[in-house]
Amino acid sequence: MQNQLIFENIIKKKIPANIVYQDEKITAFKDIQPKAPIHILIVPNFFMASLNDINKENKWIMAHMFYIAVKIAKKNKINEEGYRIIINCNKNGGQEINYLHMHLLGGEKLKSFS
Ligand code: 5GP
Repeated sequence: MQNQLIFENIIKKKIPANIVYQDEKITAFKDIQPKAPIHILIVPNFFMASLNDINKENKWIMAHMFYIAVKIAKKNKINEEGYRIIINCNKNGGQEINYLHMHLLGGEKLKSFS
């Protein structure tokens, strides 16, 4: 299976995932190998391979993804102590799944990379 199909099939509920939020635009589900107590992936319901696919017509999706990420952070009560949002892009950015996704991480003090 081409690896972007994993997320396409999760969105269509053809393969199991712990979906925490879904609307007509995006889907959010728990990462299968969580790197923090809260680790949720947020993806558009339409295919974009990476951040490089953002253009004038589809840029609104990023605002919606951030908006829902913050709502999910609040629902999980990690907003006060804080959290991290990451989007990896391509090989050097560490992107393994070729379907644009946002990581929402929290629930503990995350390691600093600066
Ligand atoms: P990337 O490295 O591409 O930014 O992140 C891909 C993420 O997808 C990883 O954190 C990985 O654990 C997660 N992942 C890979 N395959 C699956 C899967 O089948 N189900 C779920 N829920 N997460 C997955």
